[in-house]
Amino acid sequence: MSVVGVDLGGTGLRAGVVEADGTVRGLRAFEHGGLRKPHDAIEAVARAVELVAQGEPVDAVGVGVAAWVERATGFITRAPNLGWVDVPFAELLARRLGVPVVVHNDLKAIAWGEYRFGAGVGADTLLVVFLGTGVGSAIVAGGTLWTGARGFGGEIGHVKVGPDDGPLCGCGRRGCLEAYVGGGALARRAAEARAKGLLAKCGDGEITAMALERAARGGDPDARTLLEQGGDLLGRTLGAMVNILNPDVLLLGGGVWFASDYVQDAVREGIDFTSHPDLRKSVRIVGSALGSSAGVRGAADLARRAIERA
Ligand SMILES: [Zn+2]
Repeated sequence: MSVVGVDLGGTGLRAGVVEADGTVRGLRAFEHGGLRKPHDAIEAVARAVELVAQGEPVDAVGVGVAAWVERATGFITRAPNLGWVDVPFAELLARRLGVPVVVHNDLKAIAWGEYRFGAGVGADTLLVVFLGTGVGSAIVAGGTLWTGARGFGGEIGHVKVGPDDGPLCGCGRRGCLEAYVGGGALARRAAEARAKGLLAKCGDGEITAMALERAARGGDPDARTLLEQGGDLLGRTLGAMVNILNPDVLLLGGGVWFASDYVQDAVREGIDFTSHPDLRKSVRIVGSALGSSAGVRGAADLARRAIERA
């Protein structure tokens, strides 16, 4: 069976043909610069699938997308980074390609890829958290991808950790975890601080987590506070997850995570603060083994399993 996996993010997409053992053939990355119209996204994904398949027949397509995805139908209720609301994504793509399509949230595809073929192999309970533009997370427990009743389970990014007048989140609420520690949120909060005359060393352009890290290491207390506050809030939330789930593997990744030692240290301290020592002891914190191909592999494997079950 020939299955193509696709990882569709806010600014780019990756696709490749994925074998049953997780090997990827012809992995390609495409920049799309934002697909605000769902129809454009369907076309871009369909063309990427056709390109990586190189004329071979495709039996199924699996897609991981940065969105809230209903598990039964692949219907997307919202995708803040793409600007979509209520898109029957799986149905539209299946119609365009003429093959079965299985759609999941991008972090669910990444978590499943790492569980099947990467750093989560052999884990009993795997918690995966990525600090990218936003905060994505997913859980694999007892060999099953945790979706929850509707498909939105395993997400920690929209746990409210701040006050009613806290920073605005992409989901429309204020004070979500993602509004403190996602890369987009850090850039917005840094821009606000700069407008008040702070963060003088961060330059004029968009302030990345890496620029904040450099400024913090150079002795800027406001840069350090932004990074540590975000890391602390994430760590405390993760510590609660450690108590609730008792994971044996916690996989952390994403651009903000790798950019900032201040974030990493604050996250670890936050986990230590809220989790019980007996549960904290049993968690191994690891990095990704598959890197940027995890989502492609996971999405394809989830599609393969769904088709084989049907
Ligand atoms: Zn939110």
